[in-house]
Amino acid sequence: MQNSLFPVVKKISDLGLKYPPIVSDLPSLGIIYPENHFFHQYGKVVYKKLTAQEEQLYSEPLFINNSVLLNQMCESLIYFNDSPKISIEDMIIADRDVMVLMQRIVSFGDKLYGLEFECSECDSKLSPSEIEIRDIKIEKLSLIPFEPNKNVFMTKINKHRILFKFFTVKDELESGISALYSFKPSEFLSKVIIDVDGYNDPQIIEQFVKRDLSIKDVRKLYSYISEHEPYIKFISNSIICKNCHYDNKVETRINLDFLGINHEKTKEIQLDEFYILERHLNMTYDDVLQLPIQDRKSLKLKTIANVKKENNPKEAESNEPLQRHGSKKI
Ligand SMILES: [Zn+2]
Repeated sequence: MQNSLFPVVKKISDLGLKYPPIVSDLPSLGIIYPENHFFHQYGKVVYKKLTAQEEQLYSEPLFINNSVLLNQMCESLIYFNDSPKISIEDMIIADRDVMVLMQRIVSFGDKLYGLEFECSECDSKLSPSEIEIRDIKIEKLSLIPFEPNKNVFMTKINKHRILFKFFTVKDELESGISALYSFKPSEFLSKVIIDVDGYNDPQIIEQFVKRDLSIKDVRKLYSYISEHEPYIKFISNSIICKNCHYDNKVETRINLDFLGINHEKTKEIQLDEFYILERHLNMTYDDVLQLPIQDRKSLKLKTIANVKKENNPKEAESNEPLQRHGSKKI
């Protein structure tokens, strides 16, 4: 894996894109993917920013909250995903989540709406009108995989050689996100162990975890995986509980809901933005469709400010900051 960003920038500029993509470091460092793949070589994922095109498609009732399709959309935005192409379902969850979180921040800013949590002191429901992403905590992979997403653990008792994986997007789709993080240690191990002493039959593995693995080894392996598993969390601003006044700081894992593109008012907001840009900047419908969401929103705000200024120059001028002494407007 190379640390220099230069070859990545060169590859991106060779693509001749109209709008720069997002580049994120992979929490897995890319080393869990095949050696000749871009992810492995650079430890990064390069992807297109969300536009109105994705917003429109994924706001259709058929697509809303459809995890399979939303994951496929994330995959379709990735550049340099070839030789061999890696399906999003084979990516580990943290690698997908880093894309989800960055898309969200780049497109809609660092405030989140409509989320509910429990107060960690009194368990009352917290439903703040908005919360801010204050910090992002990324735990990177801290072991060398034996093979792509296959890691080794040797048990102390009986010296069993265990190969285990980190949960992938496919596991999330099959088990459901809430189940995935609430498995008991033995259930969890039956899901992540893929080979014991050369045997890879899921039934044999389940029997092995139930019968042959000592309680001590279950605990050791469980904490070994938890310690080395890459993950991404965000930390919120302070949220004071109305019931007990406890100062909560929410720290939670990311999931597909954070994308924020299938908002119920998406169409209404888009119509307004499209109308303003087409009417005042003479942009075509296609131009606006291709604009990254963030650019579309800031262009709309600037256009409104300019129109106001043109229609009412005196009022606009009085809102401008006063010039400092000695500095002249040219
Ligand atoms: Zn409370």
